[in-house]
Formats: sequence, structure tokens, C-alpha cells
Amino acid sequence: MKKQDFDVIVIGGGHAGCEAAAASARMGAETLLLTHKIETIGVMSCNPAIGGLGKGHIVREIDALDGLMGRVIDQAGIQFRMLNASKGHAVRGPRSQADRKLYREAMQREILNMENLWVYGAGADDINVKDGHVTAVIADDGTCFTCNTVVITTGTFLRGVIHRGLKTEEAGRVGEKPSIKLAERLYDLNLPMGRLKTGTPARLDGKTIDWNVCQAQEADENPVPFSFLTNEITVPQIACHITYTSEETHKIIRDNLDKSAMYSGNIKSTGPRYCPSIEDKVVRFADKTRHQIFLEPEGLDDDTVYPNGISTSLPADVQEQILKTIPGLENAKILEPGYAIEYDYVDPRALSSTLEVKKLGGLFLAGQINGTTGYEEAGAQGLIAGVNAALQAKGLKETFTLDRSEGYIGVLIDDLITYGVSEPYRMFTSRAEYRLLLRADNADQRLTQKGIDIGCVGSERERVFKSKVEALNVARETINALKMTPNKLLEYDIKVNNDGVYRSAFDLLRYKEYDFSVLCKVWPELADIEADIQEQLLIDARYAGYIDRQMADIKAYKREEGLKIPKDLDYSQIGSLSNEVRVKLSDTKPETLGAASRIQGMTPAALVSLLRYVKSQPENNTKKSA
Ligand code: FAD
Repeated sequence: MKKQDFDVIVIGGGHAGCEAAAASARMGAETLLLTHKIETIGVMSCNPAIGGLGKGHIVREIDALDGLMGRVIDQAGIQFRMLNASKGHAVRGPRSQADRKLYREAMQREILNMENLWVYGAGADDINVKDGHVTAVIADDGTCFTCNTVVITTGTFLRGVIHRGLKTEEAGRVGEKPSIKLAERLYDLNLPMGRLKTGTPARLDGKTIDWNVCQAQEADENPVPFSFLTNEITVPQIACHITYTSEETHKIIRDNLDKSAMYSGNIKSTGPRYCPSIEDKVVRFADKTRHQIFLEPEGLDDDTVYPNGISTSLPADVQEQILKTIPGLENAKILEPGYAIEYDYVDPRALSSTLEVKKLGGLFLAGQINGTTGYEEAGAQGLIAGVNAALQAKGLKETFTLDRSEGYIGVLIDDLITYGVSEPYRMFTSRAEYRLLLRADNADQRLTQKGIDIGCVGSERERVFKSKVEALNVARETINALKMTPNKLLEYDIKVNNDGVYRSAFDLLRYKEYDFSVLCKVWPELADIEADIQEQLLIDARYAGYIDRQMADIKAYKREEGLKIPKDLDYSQIGSLSNEVRVKLSDTKPETLGAASRIQGMTPAALVSLLRYVKSQPENNTKKSA
């Protein structure tokens, strides 16, 4: 490649790297994506699925900011399901099984055809730093690429070691070499490094599974796309199947625990508690007689099956014995045994909310390297890091961050940089305080204008968004203007308190008995409102009361939460803090009072002292975050 000078260099073409590179390029920065192999861009290392509870919300938010993941899964999804469809919209999570090949191909199409984005297939071995700021990245073929900012998104590759039973092998994931030199460079740069682990199950040959004894789980009849730009899902939809482990399975696992990499002591690092290996489940939930397994096809023209629920680090021969005890899998052939992987990560408390390393200018980190697990969590961080790396590379002072009331992405990043991680972090709806507001359905309403303002949203999305906002505004005016008295409404069988007060169509939508099909009988002109706009209005109406309360909470929270804490604050000057709290604050250096409040062990009294002290400083007593 002739061009060797870029605004932004993104290292790693996984889920964080693709979003980072694409976001930086959309911002108009000349961006290089430097990744081991161009053909592995967009590879799904583990589960062939996108979304789920909390995670699906994140994908919608990435999409609202014009990221790639939503529109890519819409081109590759083979089983769309809205999880929690019978519950309120706030906890519904879009999820889809992915055809791995279609996903990879669609992601590569996006990346390889993007303006301002160059791609180079090589490993990054070194990062040059001058006066506390990154200046260049050196590839393993010796090429030196100069730049203003760097985003590292190396996933599980930093000093990765695969474990199968007592056998170990250095690898970034199966069949791919680890990233050793770059990891060593990060140690040299004094980044706070740690080690985590995660695991994956064996891949099975679907032709050898007895599907008749498994329970089928169909796709939704009307698949709901992830992307606000997708009108219709055209990929054929297929069923997944469910089976269970048996008591015999659990016995084999217990009998072989000494051969499991984790239980033999070979792996010392921590794995995801919420995504445990089958060994973990059998030990931790010893009274359970069976565990569910989802048999997920990896593609439309691929017989490989991903048995979700039995990730393991047991030796391959024990994995074979286990399958023989699972209904439907008695004769299943293993195509690739499961394994666990240990890798280096960087303590995310070393990062600011833009995901820049606090002590090293121009170096941003995103994805699994920050201690998270999951494609969605990685993609979200990639997008934020990419936008901020581009802003800084272009010499702009502006930054782009989201707070906890604006998006799951805000919750994710605030959790990471405030608490750090003690195990691989994944998103849940329960992590968000304002989840009634942070719904998957309204991600565009929450975020797209912010994306337009900062410059990371392309013209097509801007046009689609603006026309939706216009349609929503017109429809809102209509449903607020159409009114009738309770007496008159009775003629249409609509019963409300007979107090003589006019009720608008919007007021009526707040009752769960009345939807547009009922209201159209009263006001036939409502039928002219497009179905998706009707749905949005209905959800808005149903949540209106709760949201007013939540908005009041957010206002109160922002009043205090957003108070900026000076970076160089000397905590020893705040006399009333306990030593323990003082050390925690000095180590974490929270950016705002809100971030300080979430440090484990912070007491209300300590927060009041901190608040008073910060406010008493003449230069800070009026500063609030945007
Ligand atoms: P990755 O998708 O890993 O991408 C990293 C990219 O960086 C790769 O393209 C790699 O080639 C490139 N790269 C690395 N080093 C360099 C370098 N020096 N120079 C150039 N390029 C480099 N997630 C779950 O949600 N649940 C699970 O149960 C789960 N289990 C997993 C099990 C295994 C064995 C593995 C490997 C992953 C698992 N994951 C799981 C995690 C999921 O795959 C990751 O969270 C997600 O892929 C992270 O995205 P990322 O972009 O950070 O990194």
C-alpha cells in the first residue's frame, strides 16, 4: 500500500474494530484498518447470533448512530426472534441467529467499500509514542504507518492461550496466531494489564444429530429488523432446536473435573459468570438434573451446528463421551472440539469516557481488550472510540460520549471505566437505571440527532430519520387534537371516567384496552398513519406516565451527577474522607460526581463531602457536563 499516513489507525477487524474504523471514516477521518487477515474481517468467534436482552438494545443504538452491526445482521439473520415479546417494550430484546458466512461477507462489503477507509492485512507489532502521544503503528512486515490517533481492538488475541483439557496452545482463537509483540508493548507502556478467560462449545455435524427427539423453536412469523434502515428481512428463516443434558452427562463431567483446564488449576483467570461453561454449571448448580442446550445452525448451506449452553475446556475425548448422553446428540460427530481461551485485557479504569487511555494521548481501546465479552458490547465501544479518535485526529476539542440516561452504550462505558471488571462484562437490561426510557424501539429517537450533530451519521440515515421525525410530529399533533367527551365515546363502546372532560386519541391510547384498531372506528382518518408510526405512538402513550417520572429523576440526577471533578483534584485535601475512600477516588479519578457515586464502597457522606469540596473550588462551582 502506497499511503502510509493516516488520521486514525484501527488495529483489529473484529466487531469493535469494524465499528471503530467505519465510524472514524464516516466522520471524514482518513482511516486505516490494520488487521491480521482481510478475509477474517467480521468473523464471529463464538456464538453465531446477534442481540438478545440488553445486547439487542445496544445493536439498535449502534444502528441509530449509523453503525454497521444492525444492517449487517439484517442481511445475515436466519432466525429472528423478539425475546420477551409478551412483556413490556422496555425489556423486549431483538435477537437473530446469524449465517456466519453471510454475516462475514456483508461486513466485508461494508468495510471494503467505505469512503475514507483503507484496509491492510498484517499484524500490528508496535506503537510509536512521542511526548506521551501515539505517532505511528508498525506492522509485522516492517511497514510504518504514521497517524494522529490509534484504536486497539484486538479481542482475545493478546497473548491468547487455548486450553483443551490439560493441553495448551498459543492462539488468538482457534487456528489463528496470538498477538504477542503488541501485548508486550502494552506492558512496556505501563498499561494496567490483567488476564481473563472465556470458552466455546464443540461444533457439531448437523447431519449426525437426531432432530426428531429435539424440540423445534421457530423464528418469528414477522421478523422485526434490527436496523432502522431495513424495511424487510428477505433472508430465509429456519428453526433452532432444544435439547437437554442428562444426569449421566453430569456424572461424566464430575468424574473428569480434574481434566478440565479450569478445575485442574491450568486456568487461573476468571470467566464470565453469566455465560458459564458446562463444568461450571454442573458444579455450581449441583441440584439441577438437566441444563438446556440450543442447537443453533451456523448457516443456510452449512451443516455445522453450535450447541449453545455447553461451552467447555474438557479434553476432546471427554467432550465426545458427554455428547453420547444428550438426547439427539448420541451419534453427533464433533467437527471442532470446544475450548477455553485465556487472554490479556487492559483494566478499563485506565480509560476516560471517550475510551482514550488517560495517561497516553491518542490511544483508544475498544472491545474485549477492555474486559467485555460479546459482539454487541465490542461494537458499541468501537463506535464511541472511533468517533472520538477521529475528532481528536482532526484537531477538534469536542468529544462524543453518552451518559447512563441516554443509552445502554452510556451504561456500558460508565460501568467499565468506573468499576473496572472482575470477570468478562456483558450487558443486561437490569444494569440500566433508566430502562423504561432506553428502549430498543426508540434508539433512533434518542440518538440519531446526536449522531447527526457530531457528524457520524450518513446522508441516507439522516434523510430517513428526518422524514420519520416529521411523520411522528404530524401524527402526534393529530392524536392530541382529536378529542371527544366521555359521553360521546360511549357511543363507540369506549368507557372512561364520565367526568365531562374531553379525551384525546393520545389519552385513550394510554389505556391498554384501546389501540389504533379501536380508535380508527372513532376517527377513521387515523388509519392514514403508517403502521410503524402508529406503533411508536402507541408505545410512547403506554409509557408516557412512567417516562414523565423517569425524566424528573434524570433531571435531578443530571443536576448533581454531571458535576465535573477536576482531573488533578488532590483528594488528600478533603479532610472528612476515610482513607479507604480517598485511595479509591485517587485511583479511579472519576470524571463526574455520578461516576464517583458508583465506585464500590462510596458512602453518601463521602459523596456530600466531595460535592461540597468540588463546589467550593472557585473554578469548578458552576461546571456541569452537557
Ligand atoms: P475480536 O472479534 O476477537 O476481533 C479481534 C480482531 O483483531 C481479529 O480480527 C484479529 O485478527 C485482530 N487482531 C488481533 N491482534 C491483532 C494485531 N496485533 N494486529 C492486527 N490485528 C489484530 N462472546 C459472548 O458474548 N459470549 C461467549 O460465550 C463468548 N465466548 C467466546 C469464546 C471464545 C473462544 C472466543 C474466542 C470468543 C468468545 N466470545 C464470546 C467473545 C466474542 O467473540 C468477542 O466478545 C467479540 O468477538 C469481541 O470483539 P472484538 O472486536 O473485541 O474482538
